[in-house]
Amino acid sequence: MPNEEAIIATKKTFRLLATTFVFCSLALSGWAQSVLSYDIDLIVDYDAGSFEGVAVIDYTNSTGMALSELFFRLYANDDGLYGTAFIQILDITIQTASSTFSLYLDETVVLVPLKEPLQPDELIEVTITFSGGTSQWPRNDRYGSIETGYGLLTKSSSALTLTTFYPMLAVYSDEGWALDPSTGFGDTLMGDTADYSVQVTTRAGPIPVTSGELVAVNPETDSTTYDFTATNARDFSLVLLEQDYIPIAAESDNAIIRTWFTPPHQLAGLLASEMALFSFQLFEELIGPCPYREIELVEVPLRSAAGVEFSGLILVGTQYAGQPNDLFFSIIISHEMAHQWFYAGVGNDVSEHPWLDESFATYLSYEFLAAYSNPSTAQMQLDTWRNAYRRAQQDWHDLSVSSPKYAFPDSSTYSSFVYSGGAAFLYDLHLELGDDAFYRSIQTYYSAMLYDMATPMDLIRSIEESCSCRIDELLSLYRIVP
Ligand SMILES: [Zn+2]
Repeated sequence: MPNEEAIIATKKTFRLLATTFVFCSLALSGWAQSVLSYDIDLIVDYDAGSFEGVAVIDYTNSTGMALSELFFRLYANDDGLYGTAFIQILDITIQTASSTFSLYLDETVVLVPLKEPLQPDELIEVTITFSGGTSQWPRNDRYGSIETGYGLLTKSSSALTLTTFYPMLAVYSDEGWALDPSTGFGDTLMGDTADYSVQVTTRAGPIPVTSGELVAVNPETDSTTYDFTATNARDFSLVLLEQDYIPIAAESDNAIIRTWFTPPHQLAGLLASEMALFSFQLFEELIGPCPYREIELVEVPLRSAAGVEFSGLILVGTQYAGQPNDLFFSIIISHEMAHQWFYAGVGNDVSEHPWLDESFATYLSYEFLAAYSNPSTAQMQLDTWRNAYRRAQQDWHDLSVSSPKYAFPDSSTYSSFVYSGGAAFLYDLHLELGDDAFYRSIQTYYSAMLYDMATPMDLIRSIEESCSCRIDELLSLYRIVP
């Protein structure tokens, strides 16, 4: 039975949040573009799965209004997605003075009051000292599962997965600071694009695979320090691998795509490399240049997720690497590759408008199947998505493709509307507009919103301007509300 009460309860939670936190919600037109950089010094105890670090965050206030506080997100403290992993703040300094801070929403939100309001275009430097620990994936069992969490900040027998290991400045939107609580499923990570300089020190042995590029390696007696940079990245993510992983590199147009799979899954690594390269070239042709010239795909244990996207880094679930010839494996690879364009390149509020990136990632995996496999395989997959969407519509009359994530009662209903329905919407839009107008409108949207945060209106405006037409009928058929 559909659980209406769950939705009402979730909405209530959010309203409470909104009244608590919307201090700065004066309307702005569109998203404020931030000028942001992170300089992170991270020390990792690989064997213990723990870490400590200092993040120096330079932020120029581009919101157009004075800010009396800043908010940071500690995504790793969300038990639903991260299990027993955690991150804690040890100290915050603003410019050179020590600052107070308060924690909210199960310690996933940090409020830092400013002694003087930060004026428009004014630069502020915030230094945050932090530490944290990962959840433990059962040892000697790469196919095992952990009790809670997706495996996003996790120590397993083969790897140490370190995503969202640092405090991230919250996104400031036209509705104020984006501080939505987690729903326990789907993506929560949301950040403005930023330039990263990251130093990682760990014992010799484990191989770091990260967002961005490796620029220096400094071996010392008991440890090795690696220097990385990443430009225009939504996040900086890192996996430290045991040495038996097999790397495969594929190159195209000054870009390099690497896969990292374990020896039992060597075939999956080979196929993933081929499919990732094919996706990269196809999506560059259909959408526009990928924001990154280095992309890593890494096999790690995941629970409740087949793959997860980060800037220039993709996690692929071990449980699917055993069946690399399955259609679903190719959907995982192409879907997560597509997120480099939609999530990392063009950002969106993953809580309020999750369909903006998931519909594109799902639809582009259809385009991938049509080009890489064959059109009939792609059509069968599209029919599967369409059927899932229709069944969900019959059960849930108040939900639609464009509903916010917190409106959905569970992961499966969320996926049926946002992923499957979203892909069906884009497929029908393609049919209605024809090849030229469809791809022109998507390319216009992509280039206009690259490195920015897009809203549904940005997408609809791009489409209607490009086709010199209105798409009201299709929007209303899918009950998409901008
Ligand atoms: Zn996705």
